[in-house]
Amino acid sequence: MNLEFDRQHIWHPYTSLTNPLPTYPVSHAYKNKICLENGQELTDGMSSWWACVHGYNHPKLNQALTEQAQKMSHVMFGGLTHDPAIRLCEKLVELTPEGLDKVFLADSGSVAVEVAIKMAFQYWISQGNKQKNKLVSLKNGYHGDTFAAMSVCDPENGMHHMFSSVINQHFFVPAPQTRFEQDFDINDISALETCLAQNHQQIAALILEPIVQGAGGVRMYHPEYLRHARRLTKKYNVLLIADEIATGFGRTGKLFACEWADISPDILCLGKALTGGYMTLAASLTTQHIAETICNGEAGVFMHGPTFMGNPLACAVACQSLELLFENNWQQQVSQIQSWLNEALKPMADLPQVKDVRVLGAIGVVELDQAVDMAKIQAFFVEQGVWIRPFGKLIYLMPPFISQQQDVKKLANAIQAWLTL
Ligand SMILES: *Cc1c(COP(=O)(O)O)cnc(C)c1O
Repeated sequence: MNLEFDRQHIWHPYTSLTNPLPTYPVSHAYKNKICLENGQELTDGMSSWWACVHGYNHPKLNQALTEQAQKMSHVMFGGLTHDPAIRLCEKLVELTPEGLDKVFLADSGSVAVEVAIKMAFQYWISQGNKQKNKLVSLKNGYHGDTFAAMSVCDPENGMHHMFSSVINQHFFVPAPQTRFEQDFDINDISALETCLAQNHQQIAALILEPIVQGAGGVRMYHPEYLRHARRLTKKYNVLLIADEIATGFGRTGKLFACEWADISPDILCLGKALTGGYMTLAASLTTQHIAETICNGEAGVFMHGPTFMGNPLACAVACQSLELLFENNWQQQVSQIQSWLNEALKPMADLPQVKDVRVLGAIGVVELDQAVDMAKIQAFFVEQGVWIRPFGKLIYLMPPFISQQQDVKKLANAIQAWLTL
């Protein structure tokens, strides 16, 4: 493998091209193992960023992919349709919270967020309301890297700060403070209520990650906050966009995190685990009412249509991945992982450099007092035979659902070893 070319010419996510940290060459992967070129096998603790829930190189997903490739890899979605897209959308309508029955297939999570935001704006514009041209989001949120998505990411730790001269300015309210397992503090919701009361005439939608804020800090908040957010958006005539790109498909212990609060958003974004980590595909779902309002408006259509919309390969794999979730009894897989994470990570809370340990579903977080030294910790974890990629002060695990107790132990032991070096 020409690693020198990689170093010189290829951007990696959030990585310098002039002074990059090492990248590890992967030759193949199977189940929850990532195999490096040098023969080393790493136990996966990341699911390739929340996506690879059934493990790598899964025979059934491989089969769905090759069978579909022999029929057609892609055809344009304008004026044409196909079985993989129809079957997938049928499943999504059935599985997602009530009322979300119009599906827009997008090519990545960020695009699904762009689509959701555009839907929200077009919904109001279609009714002749051009005043509602702002969004409100939560601090510590993360919604993707494209421009509209970026504009609703955390204003400080996100990219807002640096791009403030070129992105749209929206409203932010403090992130929910009541933790998932605490008694709900009603004051937690007052900043959102105040913001909506004062600015609702300008606000098209509230966008949030239900229950777990992912890349903005892996924070887990109380379902009652979400329930109130739904109530307040209705009260102030503001749409609710739930970004479940990270939380969707069982990761938090519910199929969708909105179920913790028993709410339905107006628009739902899905991605990441949708194809079981095989390829890029995302979806934005909305209600009949919003779809009708958009289509009865000036344009008559929703103004979006990516080239690779509804890609049949991705849809075929997504259908199979959804079947596997149920065949494998995802609920049992996730609840087992949750108990193993609790058992293995919670004792680390007593270590001096640990600020907090939290677990929900198949997500475990060890938050430190100080940011980790990425070069050192990454090399250490690889030496220990695990793939864990911390960021900032956070060492976190979100293993594939197929992980066994010894895998979770191995991941946790590597963290423990780093903390007690
Ligand atoms: C990852 C993520 C996105 C962006 O998805 P991409 O596929 O990386 O564009 C958006 N929202 C949330 C909550 C995410 O976790």
